[in-house]
Amino acid sequence: MLRNLELFCLSCGREMAGPLRRTASLRCHDCRESGEPISFELALRARKVAEIRVIEPPAGRTAA
Ligand SMILES: [Zn+2]
Repeated sequence: MLRNLELFCLSCGREMAGPLRRTASLRCHDCRESGEPISFELALRARKVAEIRVIEPPAGRTAA
């Protein structure tokens, strides 16, 4: 489930590169190397994205 989400770095907010998505990393390489803390604001945004994805009907269904 998680791998279908649009993942972004929880520190700088940039979109994650493919390899990082597969490992479900919370931060990009740059932020991990520099030890950047996770942004509370971005963590909330990520949670919101996940909630929206759960509510949405499966792809392929037509809106009636
Ligand atoms: Zn980052």
